[in-house]
Amino acid sequence: MAALYQGFPPSLVYCETRMTTTTVPESQPFQAEVAELLNLMVHSVYSETDIFLRELISNASDACDKLRYEAISAPDLIADGAPPRIRIAPDKKANTLSVVDSGIGMDRQELVDNLGTIARSGTKSFISRLTEAKDGANLIGQFGVGFYAAFMVAERIVVTSRRAGSDQVFVWSSSGGSGFEIAPASDEDAQRVTRGTEIVLHLKKEAAKYLETYEIERIVRAYSDNIQFPIELVPEEGEPRQINSASALWQRPRSELTPEDYKQAYQQVAGAFDEPAMTLHYRAEGRQSYAVMLFAPSTKPFDLFDQARKGKVKLYVRRVFIADDADVLPAYLRFIRGVIDSEDLPLNISREMLQNNPQLTQIRKAVTGRVISELESLGEKEPEAFAKIWDAFGPVIKEGIWEDFERREKLLGLSRFTTTKGEKRTLKQYVDDLRPNQTDIYYLTGESVERLKSNPKLESATARGIEVLLLTDPVDAFWTSAPLDFGGKPLKSLSQGDIDFALIPLLEEKTEDKAESGADEATTIALIKDALGERVSDVRASQRLTSSASCLVAGGGAHDRMLERLLAMQNKAPTTKPILEINMRHPLVAALAGDKDVAEDLSFLLLEQAQILDGELPEDPAAFANRLNQLVLRGVMKQ
Ligand code: ADP
Ligand code: MG
Repeated sequence: MAALYQGFPPSLVYCETRMTTTTVPESQPFQAEVAELLNLMVHSVYSETDIFLRELISNASDACDKLRYEAISAPDLIADGAPPRIRIAPDKKANTLSVVDSGIGMDRQELVDNLGTIARSGTKSFISRLTEAKDGANLIGQFGVGFYAAFMVAERIVVTSRRAGSDQVFVWSSSGGSGFEIAPASDEDAQRVTRGTEIVLHLKKEAAKYLETYEIERIVRAYSDNIQFPIELVPEEGEPRQINSASALWQRPRSELTPEDYKQAYQQVAGAFDEPAMTLHYRAEGRQSYAVMLFAPSTKPFDLFDQARKGKVKLYVRRVFIADDADVLPAYLRFIRGVIDSEDLPLNISREMLQNNPQLTQIRKAVTGRVISELESLGEKEPEAFAKIWDAFGPVIKEGIWEDFERREKLLGLSRFTTTKGEKRTLKQYVDDLRPNQTDIYYLTGESVERLKSNPKLESATARGIEVLLLTDPVDAFWTSAPLDFGGKPLKSLSQGDIDFALIPLLEEKTEDKAESGADEATTIALIKDALGERVSDVRASQRLTSSASCLVAGGGAHDRMLERLLAMQNKAPTTKPILEINMRHPLVAALAGDKDVAEDLSFLLLEQAQILDGELPEDPAAFANRLNQLVLRGVMKQ
């Protein structure tokens, strides 16, 4: 037995030995998400059903790619000499449309796993979004749902498949609903399917137009013209003929390609429906030659924030597909889609070896640099196109500020910020507009721009006309924890450490008159420290505040308050105690020093209102409410 499988990939041997031998069809239920998706699809009124063919062709093309890749180490798989190709055959009498490929095929288990579940991560949330959305059907179109899209046009689907190199053929069939059947193929079926997969769609009445050859040609030209493998139309009468141009588009010179070609190439390679917001197509020659065709999408995919942070750029070697998870670009560019086709890498490079291959490392470095400079120039020349990319992927790109030390300054330069001066501001604009004597770039992190704008920590900066970056993406709390500067100006958090605005002039002298509250600073601070004890690490007179009474900041060496909170939520780090800053000119502070009876309550109130303004709850909300009531009542009684 073992000798028989010599040279086959282990996965194949494993599949053969675990194969069951049932001959009666076996019914199996769909994974719950699949059933839900099918239900949606059947009842949707989505009118652009054409995409089903694109999805089936794309799967057939993937299967041909996989076969070519596996055949590099197991040439027996293609010993029959039959080239990988895709055929489409309409049959008006039977009312069926068949899509047949001579690719890798599927064994029994693969049929069950691949056509009964959805493995893609993020699917659950995607489907629940589909179900909730009023225009769920449009979302189907936007994201593509692969194989299952065929149920939009077919009432019954029969898939007959032979894994390359196997002597077993299986038939998967389903009419949608809650499940499918799986059984060994009859002799006749097995003879017909010599390698790969045959998908027969029994069309719904309203989908009969897909039996017309001109319809099929139209759709293939629109969506699949650049599939690398020949797509042949098998008419009911006459000879099969190829209906796509089957060129590896990225190998052709730019001058030959139209914007429409690029759009189609992007949609094909990314499985997307939007327009590319940026296209980068070039050929590198020299120490290494390779072709690059990359795109930035204009809309967000639903799995962008997956834990795995996997990139999706496809790696080819001399036109042979090798892998789509070769991490050719760093994780913070994982939204970029497309193809890199190397002339120099060995064809038989294993996926494991890809990580450490020095040639690929060079390509990685060069292409990453090129993508970033392309983004830079897009930002300058076509700000609107760049804005689309930034709105969709800015939070992802910002991960790079933290991760990619070498390109930190470049990525900071690429970033766009909402600031107290407006939207989409660059750090270059910020630095150009610095106030006299201002040497730092100030920012504040929080949950929303509205919240941040009313944060007391902005008061003194506002009085001096100092621009402040308002950072509201969760990732902002992380990258800002690295030591950063831009153009020699350090970035500084307004809720952290010592802020010294003394040398920066006020916009209007009178907004911050030096009227003292009369309270003695040292005594007041001692009183508050006494009352709050361990709850804060220090109490100080503030430079940040002009009209509010108090705010909380982190110590110079500690994490920013926002990061502190995120880490605490994930139990990642012990929290450090904040510093309470008080506004010595505020009447509440003056009252505190003047009345020993209320000093403790007022101290707590200063702390608790600062917490609330930061979007946090006081430690003991009930005690807070109680305290507040007592103080208000006291005030009322006095009057
Ligand atoms: P996706 O292509 O995004 O993985 P699909 O729903 O289109 O999702 O297909 C699911 C899986 O079914 C594919 O990943 C592949 O493993 C398998 N598959 C579908 N069609 C074929 C085919 N013609 N040949 C081989 N495998 C196929
Ligand atoms: Mg697919």
